[in-house]
Amino acid sequence: MVSAGNRGAARLRGQEYDIVLAGGHVLDPETGLDATRHVGIQGGRIAAVTTELPAARETLDVSGLMVAPGFIDLHAHGQDSESYRYYAHDGVTTALELEIGTFPVARWYAERDGRALINYGVTVGHPGARRALLRHDQSLAGAAALGDTSRTWTHGTLRDAELPSLDTLVDQGLAEGALGVGFGIAYTPGASRQEILHLFRVAARRGVVCFVHLREGGRDPESGGSVGALQEVLADATATGAALHVVHVTSMGQSDTPFLLQLIAGAREHGLDVTTEAYPYTAASTGIQSAVFDRGWQDRMGIGYRDILYPPTGERLTRTSFQRLRRTGGVVVFFIIPDSIVRLALADPLVMVASDGISAHGHPRLAGTHARVLGRYARDSGALSLMDAVRKMTLMPAQRLEQTVPAMHAKGRVQAGADADLTVFDRVKVLDRATYERPAQFSDGIVHVLVNGTFVVRNGASVAQVYPGRAVRRTP
Ligand SMILES: [Zn+2]
Repeated sequence: MVSAGNRGAARLRGQEYDIVLAGGHVLDPETGLDATRHVGIQGGRIAAVTTELPAARETLDVSGLMVAPGFIDLHAHGQDSESYRYYAHDGVTTALELEIGTFPVARWYAERDGRALINYGVTVGHPGARRALLRHDQSLAGAAALGDTSRTWTHGTLRDAELPSLDTLVDQGLAEGALGVGFGIAYTPGASRQEILHLFRVAARRGVVCFVHLREGGRDPESGGSVGALQEVLADATATGAALHVVHVTSMGQSDTPFLLQLIAGAREHGLDVTTEAYPYTAASTGIQSAVFDRGWQDRMGIGYRDILYPPTGERLTRTSFQRLRRTGGVVVFFIIPDSIVRLALADPLVMVASDGISAHGHPRLAGTHARVLGRYARDSGALSLMDAVRKMTLMPAQRLEQTVPAMHAKGRVQAGADADLTVFDRVKVLDRATYERPAQFSDGIVHVLVNGTFVVRNGASVAQVYPGRAVRRTP
């Protein structure tokens, strides 16, 4: 507790903060600070990180707990108020939809303005722009566009003469403040290599990053599989100068993930700006009607019907139930990633952590990704250090975006001047509770979460009726 004498002395020096998080163990990956400190918050920003307790209108004792930068999730499809609540209980203070993105962009930001629990942002989506061009429909935002299974817009091809129109739509999204260009190439198999190259050129011209779900996952001796698919976009990045971020490297590479990581590391050594991410699970998840399950999926992914789980009923699929769901639709979970590959990716210093969360009621990754990395992979199995785990979910995602979005310099850090996005967790208790059978469960051990200086989780409980989330948006 702060004594009255201390308070008076500090006030005389003119330093009274809104809130002080007192006596926690601060982890700041950029400076390497890994020690007990007090964190003073003023006006939504971190005002001071000190060894002497400063005065504040409210002092919260967080001794025995870890104080980390709020987690930044680069791959968050769930962008509604329910998803934001689950992310917050997993320590996430910024959730970005970068892989599939959206089209149009301005409307997406307007819909969240003043109504979001946590910070949010989006890329302009190649899928959404392609759908606008081929289906003349802009009504489905974000990953919901993939729910349009009419196939004309995913499997149809564009003539060379039509490519400039697609460029114009994507460029319009960037002019509206999108954070980059999002690609789900495996979902739009009609998109030629020429089409993808065209859009890399648009991204390069605007100086933004391409966030890519590769054309193919797994191994395929004829088409090249995931290795060939990564080589495609590495060539596009090289030829255009665009920066590249490869999403969920483990579900793309599966047992070939080490080859993908070698390609990425080698490209970086030779000067290319390329990064990647993974989620800490052995199962992937997507719509069963998508092109991922087009003919040949068993060979590409090395799995059968029994490896697919349908979360609403908890059943493993058979040939009959697979064919029925292919007609009626639904999001499935499928086990394609060896645990040794998950471990290898999380231990690799190049790989960031990102959830790929779609819904809290589907794959457990939406609700549990970050606590799972901290609890199961860092603490329990020692696959990586706690500081490295925190770095992969804070500083590294901030750095991925800060060249195009300078505001990201103020995130991913516990430093004076940074945004007061903070996650306070119990290193002994932190653990995911979301399971494949019961995915909609808040993580354990996430004690306090602040977004721009406002509590959204306090003493492990949700704070109601607060909307401190702000747009992360590029200034064109
Ligand atoms: Zn994906």
